[in-house]
Formats: sequence, C-alpha cells, structure tokens
Amino acid sequence: MKNSIQSALVGMAVGDALGVPVEFMSRSSLDRNPVTSMREYGTHHQAKGTWSDDSSLAFCLVESLCKGYDTQDLAEWFMAWYYEGKWTPHGRVFDAGSITIGAIRRLKSGVKPTEAGGGSEDDNGNGALMRILPLVFYVQDFSREQRYQYVKEVASLTHKHIRSVVACFIYIEYALCLLKGDNKETAYQNICKELTFFLKYITISEKELSYFKHIFNGGLPMMHRQLIHSSGYVLHTLEAALWCVLTSHSYSETVLKAVNLGEDTDTTAAVAGGLAGILYGIEQIPQEWQTALAKYELIIDLANRLEQKISINYS
Ligand SMILES: [Mg+2]
Repeated sequence: MKNSIQSALVGMAVGDALGVPVEFMSRSSLDRNPVTSMREYGTHHQAKGTWSDDSSLAFCLVESLCKGYDTQDLAEWFMAWYYEGKWTPHGRVFDAGSITIGAIRRLKSGVKPTEAGGGSEDDNGNGALMRILPLVFYVQDFSREQRYQYVKEVASLTHKHIRSVVACFIYIEYALCLLKGDNKETAYQNICKELTFFLKYITISEKELSYFKHIFNGGLPMMHRQLIHSSGYVLHTLEAALWCVLTSHSYSETVLKAVNLGEDTDTTAAVAGGLAGILYGIEQIPQEWQTALAKYELIIDLANRLEQKISINYS
C-alpha cells in the first residue's frame, strides 16, 4: 500500500499529540468538553503538536529497523531516548512509564534485551503495545510463527509477560491485515478466526486466552462505550483502540473517539491512530494536524528511510 509507513507513523504521532494535553482526564470531564482539534499545554504543559514516549519509542524502533533487526541496537536507541533525549519532540523526556523506565535501567546495567522487560502480571501496562507498530513493516512477509517470535522479542525489551506479548501480536496481525488491503471488519474477522487456533497451537494457556475474550468472541464493535476501558492496562488499550477503529468511519473520528475515552488518552489514540493511518492513508489525516507535529519533516524522512530499506530487502 502506497506510503503506508508514513501513514502509520504520522497516524500514530497525531493521535499521541491529540491526547497529550488531556492525558489522565476523566471520561466525564471530556464528555463535557470533548477534544475536537489539536490543543496546546494542558496536562504536560507542552506546545501544540507535541507527541510523547509512545511515538518516541516507536521512532527508535524505526531507526533501528532501518539498519536491520538487532535487539541490542534497539536497546541502545531506547537508552539514547531516555538518557540523552534522542527522538524526543523538544529535546527532553517529559513522560515515561515506570515499567519502561525499569527495563531501560536494566538494559543499561547489561541485562540482555530479551530479558530486560517487566515479567510479572502487574507489569502489563501498555508500554510495549504503544511502540510496536513499525515492526509490522519488517515482518510483513514472514510466516506467522516468525512474526510471533519477532513481536515477542521486541515487546520483551520492556514488557515480557505473555499478556503483553499476545496483545502486541494481535495488534500486529490486525495491522498486517489492513496493510494487505482488508477492510476493518474483514481484518477483525480474520483475527477472530485465525488467532485463537494459532495461540493455542503455540501453547498459550486457555486461562491467558480468556483475558482476550472480548476481542476473540467477535463482539467488540457491538460493545457499549461504557464497557470500553481506557486505562494504561495493555488489554484495555488494545480493546479500546480496536473498538475505536471498528466503530468509526474516518481517521479523525477514530482518533478523537480514542482521546475522548479519557485516562490514557495519548496511548489509546496513538495505538488507534497508527491503525487508522494505515486504513485511511496519510492524505485523510487533516493537514493542519500533520504539520503541527513536532519534527514533522524528520518523521517523514524516517518513514522514507524505512520504506527504502524494506524495498531493498524485498526487491
Ligand atoms: Mg505517552
């Protein structure tokens, strides 16, 4: 699909930037004063168009993939972000999740990349899900088993509990269906049909799979908004992002719906926005939102560099 890397990266970063000024706000207060355009200041007192850790770490993944697949190199990009402000919107980190920080400190102390992530059930924040999307472009022609393995490794740098890994895998598989040209409903049906069998086959327990029942039972788009949670828990973010995509009809509708769910607004909208970018294409993302983004030209250049790398790999 044309310009799909640009569409995904800009789609993600615009969602993130729409959410940053209202992060942690409750749904009821956003219902009274919903976000309808890009705001400035607010929660983190940042300029309009400022994206957060979600986009920063996804951009680090793209940088690393531009050179090839190497988890140690990716670890170095994550450390450069946290300790030196690389791929931050304005030179410094203003928002970082505690599980991610813990993992980056372990990476710094020499722990192997695939071992560094938080591995307990309480470590299932959305910090791997929010940054995993660019991997879809690298693994798009791999087998499903290989895709799972790559997703598992890349997630594990910060989040290695099986729930985070499976959430990232479902997200990447859904993104891949969109990338191959499925519409949003067909992509969802494919996920429901094919992934439960695959995940059982690779011995993910029934108990663990039961956490994903709202996705795999096929009823997610029919769920009432009140039942869609938007906290920082990986399962909530995945459900909310897919729900926003499945119940919307444009890029703008998808990301504004995500932001206005409240709480972890930037991440829900970044995760939904990346998918909506692929689905609708960069030309459907409002121009004024695109150009408001911090480092917009550098993001486009980054997308083009990965596009070039991938076209060389597969030519
Ligand atoms: Mg964030």
